[in-house]
Amino acid sequence: MAEGLDLLNNVELTTLVILDVYLAIDWYNQNMNFDGLEFLIVGSGFFGSVLAERVATVLGKKVIIVEKRGHIGGNSYSGLCSQTGIEEHLYGAHIFHTSNKRVWDYIRSFSDFTNYQHRVFTEYKSVIYPLPISLATINAFYKKQLRPYEVEAFMQNERANENIVNPTNLEEMAISLIGRPLYEAFIKGYTKKQWDKDPRFLPANIITRLPVRKNYNNNYFNDSYQGLPQNGYFKLFENILSNPKIEVKLNTNFFEIKEKIPSSCHIIFTGPIDQYFNYKFGALEWRGLRFVREVLNYEDFQGTAVMNYADELVPYTRIHEFRHFHPERVAPANKTLVVREYPQAWKVGEDPYYPMGTKENLDRYELYRREAASISNLHIGGRMGQYCYLDMDKTILLALELFDKIRVRYAT
Ligand SMILES: Cc1cc2nc3c(=O)[nH]c(=O)nc-3n(C[C@H](O)[C@H](O)[C@H](O)COP(=O)(O)OP(=O)(O)OC[C@H]3O[C@@H](n4cnc5c(N)ncnc54)[C@H](O)[C@@H]3O)c2cc1C
Repeated sequence: MAEGLDLLNNVELTTLVILDVYLAIDWYNQNMNFDGLEFLIVGSGFFGSVLAERVATVLGKKVIIVEKRGHIGGNSYSGLCSQTGIEEHLYGAHIFHTSNKRVWDYIRSFSDFTNYQHRVFTEYKSVIYPLPISLATINAFYKKQLRPYEVEAFMQNERANENIVNPTNLEEMAISLIGRPLYEAFIKGYTKKQWDKDPRFLPANIITRLPVRKNYNNNYFNDSYQGLPQNGYFKLFENILSNPKIEVKLNTNFFEIKEKIPSSCHIIFTGPIDQYFNYKFGALEWRGLRFVREVLNYEDFQGTAVMNYADELVPYTRIHEFRHFHPERVAPANKTLVVREYPQAWKVGEDPYYPMGTKENLDRYELYRREAASISNLHIGGRMGQYCYLDMDKTILLALELFDKIRVRYAT
């Protein structure tokens, strides 16, 4: 276990402890023997892990997962902070929410979920408002006491002030949906920080709707099911990968073992699609993130799990306070863990977070997608493989659907 933690140190996860030894995970295997292997999966995020589980359980086949990081779970991974014992989501807060019954039933076969309901607040000019924009936000912002049945007429008036009929950029689109004052308070600065671009230079189609709730409901998601894995994402992933037919090789980069893979082997690749093809059509652009963590000597720093910062001059977009994600657990009385999220420029080789969905990038992606589709036994998927933002439930659904296709191929 100590050696395992050293491996984590190499990837700068010094503050995390791993609770369990992964029995099926081969940390140290240098003998990478892929002879006769039928399924190789690159990446142990939701896309790769769900496919590994299905192939091992339903087809009864051996699967090897190669994962370049020192832990399983991809960006959904969580660990325990060694200073506070609080569970921390390493790559930004991950709340599980879905309206898809197939996904919900599938994921709950590996873990119970808490009944955590996500609520987000935002600070703008030193005042705190609830998000998404609701009657509570509108009344606080405009200092009014509107009733639900008065909201639509009020918003129509706000929209009519500028009467934008054919929005040509994100700013115009947002104003046409919610009016200028709400746009300037809650969208403009945040969007500028997120993309490092003035919303006037971002395409209108980034947003198609900005829902305004006419009541005081401040549950962030509208989905039928929501919660967090009872024992953390790390335990959830351990359970998904617990089939002895699944072997996980951590700290293993696919591109270093690629030549050893038999040509008949199915490769399920969940890394960046442009990297798979050595960037032959050019690199797809992403936005990066930087997480700055701090243990503070308070029982409670901000009173809620996520506080957004809408002002452009505040350099981070949000602060996560992880103790609030598990109110059912005991957390220290005098310490809390907070993580500030800073959007940042990205370059090839760094962790990609949000795809920059410009027309040029999407056209480029299409070239890669076509190339991948022409290679039999190669399946490229997941958020980096499909170059799009995918929530966890959608990622799981896409993996289950890909497995449905693979299964049909195996049956014929
Ligand atoms: C800041 C942020 C917050 C989010 N919050 C939520 C949320 O609250 N709720 C929600 O539903 N979704 C959320 N998401 C989306 C969620 O992170 C994705 O749905 C999920 O990570 C997709 O899983 P994946 O398997 O496609 O990719 P990943 O989780 O990124 O897994 C891919 C894995 O492949 C590995 N890999 C890549 N290349 C190689 C290689 N060459 N060799 C070996 N291994 C390789 C990587 O190391 C990684 O572990 C959030 C995303 C972001 C950016």
